[in-house]
Amino acid sequence: MTRIAVIGGGIAGLAAAHRARRRATETGRSATIALFERDPRLGGKILTTRAGGFIVEGGPDSFINQKPHGLQMCRELGLGGDLLPSNDATYKTRLLRKGRLLAYPEGFRLAVPTKIWPFVTSPLISPLGKLRMGLDLVLPARRSTADESLAAFITRRLGREALDRIAGPIMSGIFVADPERMSVLSTFPMFVELERKYGSLTRGIRIARRKAAANGAGAPSSVFTGLRPGMDALVDALAARVGADARRGVAVRALRRTAGGFELTLDPGGAFAADHVILAAPAYAAAELLEPLHPALATALRGIRYVSSATVSLAFRREDAADCPDGGGFGFVVPRTEPAQLLAFTWSSRKFDGRAPDDRHLVRAFIGGSRHEELAGLPEEDLVRIARAEIARILRLRAEPEAVWVSRWPKGNPQFDVGHLDRVGEMERMASEIPGLHLAGSAYRGVGIPDCIKSAQAAVDAVFGA
Ligand SMILES: Cc1cc2nc3c(=O)[nH]c(=O)nc-3n(C[C@H](O)[C@H](O)[C@H](O)COP(=O)(O)OP(=O)(O)OC[C@H]3O[C@@H](n4cnc5c(N)ncnc54)[C@H](O)[C@@H]3O)c2cc1C
Repeated sequence: MTRIAVIGGGIAGLAAAHRARRRATETGRSATIALFERDPRLGGKILTTRAGGFIVEGGPDSFINQKPHGLQMCRELGLGGDLLPSNDATYKTRLLRKGRLLAYPEGFRLAVPTKIWPFVTSPLISPLGKLRMGLDLVLPARRSTADESLAAFITRRLGREALDRIAGPIMSGIFVADPERMSVLSTFPMFVELERKYGSLTRGIRIARRKAAANGAGAPSSVFTGLRPGMDALVDALAARVGADARRGVAVRALRRTAGGFELTLDPGGAFAADHVILAAPAYAAAELLEPLHPALATALRGIRYVSSATVSLAFRREDAADCPDGGGFGFVVPRTEPAQLLAFTWSSRKFDGRAPDDRHLVRAFIGGSRHEELAGLPEEDLVRIARAEIARILRLRAEPEAVWVSRWPKGNPQFDVGHLDRVGEMERMASEIPGLHLAGSAYRGVGIPDCIKSAQAAVDAVFGA
């Protein structure tokens, strides 16, 4: 009998418990699996609220299609019919610049132009900035394989304007991170690979797209996939599979090594003996539990920096938003050069169908992150006031919202600073010194849902043997 304890009931912990059950059945191995989640609710950062015909996401609203584990998991759980593509072919993301909203030219893939004419005619980048971006085609590739910041990478290949106006705002919108500190190897390894392979990002992306088209893969119909009933459908489907093995409202207070494995001290009471522990709590929580077992590992885990953020969702009547000066956009991102208190803004009801009644809009403002972390800790009414003031100033949407929903995420966003992958490699090596211990979740090799699922599956495969 193998006893497996999973600590943390976010997407990583749930995916781990689900896979452990499946692997036990497949391998015919008898296993006891227990998942412990401190909160009464499962899902961690995945938090959906339904009210008055609105489907409001307080945390993630989707996952990226480029990484397969999100789509695969949904299909495996029978949620294939609920997959909801983002409407990014219809609506375009904009950049806030000097108080105005400018569209990203057609054909941009992350920070790189793949279509020449829309790029050349776009007012987003100055003529000099465009010439500098063109140098990407001739500049030699970097020899060193050492990590560097996303800012250093983009500035080196495409120039400062490309960083300030394109890559920086988009990337810090995704990772709520500071591009000057963010590791390019941990967040956009494909950029490094394209430079290494093709000597140029622009050439590399064009070749990769051509190859994908020739293989019949083509471009996916959307960049992101949400779930029709809301992202918590994924949590509910996993929770249904895990069943009574998931113990909500039970925190693991201490972890002790025993002759046979581990003993977990539970709050509000009791203990659990395990041969394997999959630690899928945030790195700082994992550090507390591992301090007595491996102080050096605990110190390294505490070294993973987290920043706080908040989302404010607001419901408006469609007619009130008719005159917004963004030409029916998808939302906008904010460069650090702009004196704005928002990190990014999304028309949720345009990004995904079915988020609001037909005559209403649902919008979402992002506040905090590494740029304005002090704001994320403000009381809810201040967050709503900031969101409303910025929406009124930038979009001229001054109507009273019909409803608001605020989600605060203190220490909610792990930051992958330069050198992160090397440090994670070292943490994994130290973790391997404690037989039966496995780390999983957003702190290590990817913050997005697909990467969290992947890390959970790898942890379970280490238990059962891949
Ligand atoms: C506002 C926001 C928007 C995001 N948007 C997207 C997006 O659109 N797409 C995307 O892919 N990703 C997005 N992300 C990132 C993604 O949602 C998270 O990285 C992911 O959900 C984290 O999952 P996890 O299981 O690693 O951690 P968590 O969800 O943090 O779960 C960890 C769990 O461990 C529990 N725990 C901690 N300590 C203990 C203990 N001692 N005992 C028991 N339980 C404990 C916690 O209560 C928590 O529930 C977003 C994140 C945020 C904050």
